[in-house]
Amino acid sequence: MPSVYLQTFGCQMNAADSNGLAHQAWSLGCSFTETPETADILIVNTCAIREKAETRVYGRLGQLKSLKRPESKLLVTGCLAEKDRAVMRSKAPWVDALLGPREYGAFKALLADWGVPTDLPPRDTPLQMPSSETLDGGADALEYSHLRSLVSITRGCEKFCTYCIVPYTRGPLESIGPEEIESQVRREVRCGAKEITLLGQNVNSYLYEGLNFADLLRRVGSIEGLERLTFLTSHPHDFNREVVDALAEVQNVAPRLHLPIQSASNEVLQAMGRLYTVEEYLEKIAYFRERLPGWALTTDIICGFPTETEHDFEATLELVRRGTFEYAFIFAYSPRSGTPAATMTPQVEPQERLRRLQAVNSAQLDSSRRFHERFIGETVRVLSSGPSKKDAAKMAGKTGHNVTVVWPRDERTLHQAFVDVAIDQAHSWGLIGQVA
Ligand code: SF4
Repeated sequence: MPSVYLQTFGCQMNAADSNGLAHQAWSLGCSFTETPETADILIVNTCAIREKAETRVYGRLGQLKSLKRPESKLLVTGCLAEKDRAVMRSKAPWVDALLGPREYGAFKALLADWGVPTDLPPRDTPLQMPSSETLDGGADALEYSHLRSLVSITRGCEKFCTYCIVPYTRGPLESIGPEEIESQVRREVRCGAKEITLLGQNVNSYLYEGLNFADLLRRVGSIEGLERLTFLTSHPHDFNREVVDALAEVQNVAPRLHLPIQSASNEVLQAMGRLYTVEEYLEKIAYFRERLPGWALTTDIICGFPTETEHDFEATLELVRRGTFEYAFIFAYSPRSGTPAATMTPQVEPQERLRRLQAVNSAQLDSSRRFHERFIGETVRVLSSGPSKKDAAKMAGKTGHNVTVVWPRDERTLHQAFVDVAIDQAHSWGLIGQVA
């Protein structure tokens, strides 16, 4: 049967899509290889979020042109396949087919065109494929990579934040039916997943025949064998009390919420097209903190967005200094051509964007360290990621709060999915402890 080489660029939505494509190929009997030279079918799942990501993809396509056998087929999927549909033929004419993010229903037919038999009984054994973690971490990592799995619940987005290209590449919002989601979650649990992340650009806008995201959380949360449920990403405009109430009810949901604020200035939020004010955001998280004490709140922040003044930036810095977030993903604004923000004036100088990023980052590191210090002396349950990538004599994993924990490699617990670790050190990046 044909062997498939699959490489994924970009976000977790792409990782989830790759997982779906891999399952389709696997069910038809394909196997997977880590070496493009030996593959019959090569798939590159691409990202177009930034120009740098596009450059990396075209660089890789250039390498694959010389690595692949002449008779092998090369398929490009994902956001760049959609965005560069018209120009891919001239930029990379050795690519055999393109499928955008809304076209994966045509994947099996394409495999059939390329000689993969589709009339055999479908294979229902657990998917076995090398993950990108395996490539970094060696054979050990494969044992742990399937413990976490991503399941998409929506496709596309129609929020049109002024800095984002996603609505142009992934199209309008579409919610996936709950039965399909539940059957994917069950399949992943059968294959060994302990933690499932429900994925969407804006999971809070999920709506399928009257069933909303709060209802979906309750349904998926009751699936037998699922130990940890989490979700990404939420939009403050659509995140509401009903979702918080559902989170308080569902037993196996991980105690963390990612709610991107982006800026603490209403003027900047308006320029970003974010559809909420700082006051509305704070009111929502006040209810969240009241109903779910002890949870971790994480966020995204963009520094140096066009029109952001020193005053705007100080407001964001102050919010972070107050310890509002347990963790934050902080970015310097990077213009994306084709988005309204790229041509807004005035743009903040790149050096100044970087200065603001560093200031916010340093304030957040203090808050994260203070949050981590609360765990000293406690025993935490960690979902293992296997041997640490930096030091094979150590193991690493994540708590339900998504805090990184490192502990000495220990043969007794080496093959356990969950390990109880007694914490004795806290840092801004995470925790260190010993097997309890
Ligand atoms: S919510 Fe905004 S940032 Fe997120 S995918 Fe949609 S447009 Fe992009």
